[in-house]
Amino acid sequence: MKFRILGSGGGEGFPAPFCSCEHCEDARKQGGKSLRTLSQSIIDNDLLIDLPSDTNAHCLRFGINLGQIQNVLITHSHPDHYMPDLLATRGGFCAHNMKYKNLYIYGPSDLKELFNRVSISETIRENIHFIVLNAGEKVKIGEYDVTPIDALHAPTLGSLNYIIEKDGKSLLYLIDSGYPTEATLESLKGMNKVFDAVVMDGTMGISEPLTYLYHMGYKENKQLKQELILKGIADTDTRFVVTHITHNKSEYHEKVEEIFKDTGISVAYDGFETEI
Ligand SMILES: [Zn+2]
Ligand SMILES: [Zn+2]
Ligand SMILES: [Zn+2]
Repeated sequence: MKFRILGSGGGEGFPAPFCSCEHCEDARKQGGKSLRTLSQSIIDNDLLIDLPSDTNAHCLRFGINLGQIQNVLITHSHPDHYMPDLLATRGGFCAHNMKYKNLYIYGPSDLKELFNRVSISETIRENIHFIVLNAGEKVKIGEYDVTPIDALHAPTLGSLNYIIEKDGKSLLYLIDSGYPTEATLESLKGMNKVFDAVVMDGTMGISEPLTYLYHMGYKENKQLKQELILKGIADTDTRFVVTHITHNKSEYHEKVEEIFKDTGISVAYDGFETEI
């Protein structure tokens, strides 16, 4: 699987558009990898993960044609991950010669209701379908086996993380999430699987562990890597990546890289790519 992070920022992007904090000002000066758009990833240019308002910008920058994509996996409905308004241009005079007539959106149960609130013409609406996923229930999405797991995040909305597998390779996608619960870690261990890649939420940056239950910080990312290896869920060949990085608890890209130096954890940036 070719895994690519299109947007590596947290909820408000980094720099945040209205913010003049020191970290945002530094990021504006640094440019490049320090400019982080909203969270979105893609596998093999085929399976899209999340649909933030930066989707259009990601398509332009990375040469993605959403008319060639049939399946979208959504983690949860926070607006930095799901902006159904974007779907209003999927048809009519806005979209010609799409490869797929129908689009399938997989994720928690509230996605369709939010979509229904958006003003979208009926001819576009009728080609967009929602499939509710439940933790622990594996589904086939295109060429991928996808197992949703409970995320420790936004408990009132319902929020999922994912195990994505293809051709014997497996990715553990932990965005957004706090440090996985004991129950989640035990169920991962019970799968008798050594993940090839683990993508972790680093929203809380340099905060001490458990500063906030529903996002991880860098110490928790390092601890999680060790715990996954200890439990046999990952090993020394597993690729670890931290993303969803925000201005409140992180400095510009190279400063974050210093924090993860010699840990074997890669710091994502917009356009980060790895073969899994
Ligand atoms: Zn988020
Ligand atoms: Zn800021
Ligand atoms: Zn969230």
